Amino acid sequence: MKSNISKNTIAIRAALESDEQFGAVIPPVHLTTTFAFKQFGVEQQYDYTRTANPTRDALAEAVTVLEGGHGATVTSSGMSAITLVTALLNPNDYVIAPHDCYGGTFRLFSRLEKRGLLRVKYVDQRDLNLLEQTINQYQPKIVWVETPSNPLLRVVDVQAISEILKQGNALLVVDNTFLTPIFQTPFKLGADIVIHSTTKYINGHTDVVGGIVVTKNETLHQTMQEWANILGLSGAPFDSYLTLRGLRTLQLRMKAHEKTALALAEVLAEHPLVVKVNYPGLSSDPNHSLAKKQQLGFGGMLSFEIKGGLQEVEKFFKHIECFSLAESLGGFESLVCHPYTMTHAPLSSEDKKKAGISENLIRISVGIEEEEDLIKSLLKALEKTRK
Ligand SMILES: *Cc1c(COP(=O)(O)O)cnc(C)c1O
Repeated sequence: MKSNISKNTIAIRAALESDEQFGAVIPPVHLTTTFAFKQFGVEQQYDYTRTANPTRDALAEAVTVLEGGHGATVTSSGMSAITLVTALLNPNDYVIAPHDCYGGTFRLFSRLEKRGLLRVKYVDQRDLNLLEQTINQYQPKIVWVETPSNPLLRVVDVQAISEILKQGNALLVVDNTFLTPIFQTPFKLGADIVIHSTTKYINGHTDVVGGIVVTKNETLHQTMQEWANILGLSGAPFDSYLTLRGLRTLQLRMKAHEKTALALAEVLAEHPLVVKVNYPGLSSDPNHSLAKKQQLGFGGMLSFEIKGGLQEVEKFFKHIECFSLAESLGGFESLVCHPYTMTHAPLSSEDKKKAGISENLIRISVGIEEEEDLIKSLLKALEKTRK
């Protein structure tokens, strides 16, 4: 599909009418492990589903065009997408990752390092001087970027990092899960690889765990395709079908998430029982100007600190309605979570302190329910923390 078509139209029309047999408007789901050879000894496009599958390819093609990349490999989870990228590394190669990266990414890199399969340094990438020093010192093969960060929504300057990397051979990998191609297009900022946990916004319906690796060029794409097949990381056809169905409404959902997130952030920022709000869409947020420069929207994730400690947090969760107390994010439904004891529980209390994750921090994945209902519920739960 041509890339001068708007993203909304790309997502909606991807692979429509691709069924040559019956002319189905919606691309069929190919639930088959294997494909019959039409002729002995003649190679064909599809032979075995671990290697390639038409339903998975339809999803890959759609996300490739949305991100403005060259090709994509659909994987069974966000973590398998990240694992797939580590296939580019040899035992002495360094990855430089954010000090506050996704917990699963931190665990994967750290465990692989323990087994001698790669080397890793964690840096606060907002400090570009420190990052440049670290790059010069370790000559990494990969610089891993995640922006905005979880759960504090800190933004790092992707283009500035890609400028630093221009002199060397390091690949710039961006985890674009939080914003999706609707609100951030890392290839335009100099990325070589973009990955997603499609479990989150891209599928958006909290019913599929999946991932994707999108690459800028054919060589990287071939390497990713080859290793997904070797390691057996490819996504399931039915999951790809559901994810492509979710993708159809990505732009609609992202705009609704963003609008409501801003409204909630504004209400929280004014509230006497709230100490601090982290949402780059607020003009008072320290990340606002960079987010405005590099992003196309501010997204649907926010976090805030309430007055008090664990007791107040407990009361808040006890009384909150219309939000489910759960990990994960990016679905149509609103979720609240307590990073200190939930998503970031594996970190030591010292590491949590260093990362800025306090006991009174609450994270929200803002859903697309009626804005008024969410605001009312938040205000009520906050009031209950007083008693
Ligand atoms: C959830 C998430 C992942 C991991 O994805 P899974 O689909 O849970 O394996 C990676 N990065 C970010 C930013 C995430 O939010």
